[in-house]
Amino acid sequence: MVSTLDNSFYDRMEGLFAPAEAMKPSAPRLLVFNRRLAHRLGIDVTHAGDDEFARIFSGQEMPEGSGPIALPYAGHQFGHFSPQLGDGRALLLGEIIAPDGARFDIQLKGSGPTPFSRGGDGKAAMGPVLREYLVSEAMAAMGVPTTRSLAAVATGDVVQRERAHPGAVLTRVASSHIRVGTFQFFAAHFGVDHVVKLSNYTIWRHWPKLAEAPNPHLAMLDRVIGLQCELIAHWMGVGFIHGVMNTDNVAVSGETLDYGPCAFMDRFAANTVFSSIDTHGRYAYGRQPQIMHWNMARFAEALLPAIHSVSPDDVEAAKALVDAIPGRFRAHWASRMRAKLGLAEGGADDRALVDDLFAELEMHSVDFTSFFCALAMLLRGDGARLEQLLPTPDAMAPWVARWWEHIESDGVSPLARADAMDAVNPLYIPRNHIIEPALEAAEAGDIGPWREFLAVVQQPFVERPGLERFAEPGPIDAAPYRTFCGT
Ligand code: AMP
Ligand code: MG
Repeated sequence: MVSTLDNSFYDRMEGLFAPAEAMKPSAPRLLVFNRRLAHRLGIDVTHAGDDEFARIFSGQEMPEGSGPIALPYAGHQFGHFSPQLGDGRALLLGEIIAPDGARFDIQLKGSGPTPFSRGGDGKAAMGPVLREYLVSEAMAAMGVPTTRSLAAVATGDVVQRERAHPGAVLTRVASSHIRVGTFQFFAAHFGVDHVVKLSNYTIWRHWPKLAEAPNPHLAMLDRVIGLQCELIAHWMGVGFIHGVMNTDNVAVSGETLDYGPCAFMDRFAANTVFSSIDTHGRYAYGRQPQIMHWNMARFAEALLPAIHSVSPDDVEAAKALVDAIPGRFRAHWASRMRAKLGLAEGGADDRALVDDLFAELEMHSVDFTSFFCALAMLLRGDGARLEQLLPTPDAMAPWVARWWEHIESDGVSPLARADAMDAVNPLYIPRNHIIEPALEAAEAGDIGPWREFLAVVQQPFVERPGLERFAEPGPIDAAPYRTFCGT
């Protein structure tokens, strides 16, 4: 069924990983399988049944060609360096080469301990597995670069956390699992040769043309920084808070990685934090660009030996690339916000308009997601939705008047603008007050509400009658939402 796997990391990075095995689940049962993703990967599923999926995507049976390994990495966790982390609850089965030639890691998450488990059980509870599945697929549907979810399988075993949970395994698909922390591990424990080796492998895997640059490692730093700037702007444009932007959770590919305590913001507040362990708000919504800058500085440090080995002069160029990050991020952010607000690229200077918007949204506790959809409706002549979002109907009238002026000065028809806005502003996101009860129901044996919600967020831009409740923010008087690590 699963086409033969390739193992380029295994073959090219000899000795720099640990062979590992999956724990055999007692009674694997398929919860969900992503047929559309399977098709994109070229997996032939025509003759496979749920039982076969359950066996393969729980680790009970290894797919053909698999050389299962766990990868070591290091990482700055909340600013403190941990030299020895790694796949403690994940197993890389191998790589699949899709019909278009793209290469993807196939990884099991929650399939038991590995040499990097550091005393952990290597397992995952069903709730967090289904949470990652739904949120990552929602992100993909919104066009945000992300790892994907191919399957979730209940193991039939119990996972002990603060209470007992049913266990599950997630099959994660990523263009690679090379993290900033992977580079940090190589830089901290080995010499320049190993950093060069990892860098060359990464370039071969993701951007082979960069091998022709005068200094390929410097060119890769530039590329990775560009992708991170784009990614964080994308996150913030949909109100996403990653929650644990440690360097070990940053994929150099520019894909969103490690859905732990992440969540989406309802009512706008720049200092929003959901993670129970982020007590100082290091990873708050509005701090994400600064943290990305900091993480990229750590990446540059780890790469520096490789950059220096080609040309010592390029160390200065690397520093300049890191220093330029705030400006580069702002350019991505400005262009994303223009799209969200229906403003033309290169139109009248709209920076103050955008900056002032966030102060307004915060002051009036406006639901971030609904706001942009309501603005598009206003362009169509329906102002009711916007009024409903505000504490008083004209609370944002002066700002809205300014926005109209920008719209009119662009000279494009309001209806065409509204359609363009609908294509970038999601209507349905994984809202906290909907996902939590769905996960609880799933752990208690009823996966129906979760499936229903998944279908909703898989088409985030298309308004459908009957789904109104999925587009609404949670109750305003609810206790602050808290998320936890531990997929
Ligand atoms: P994360 O919270 O996903 O960023 O994980 C941080 C580190 O803890 C990674 O090295 C994980 O592999 C490890 N880890 C987290 N949970 C477990 C677990 N249940 N068993 C073993 N290792 C774990
Ligand atoms: Mg992690």
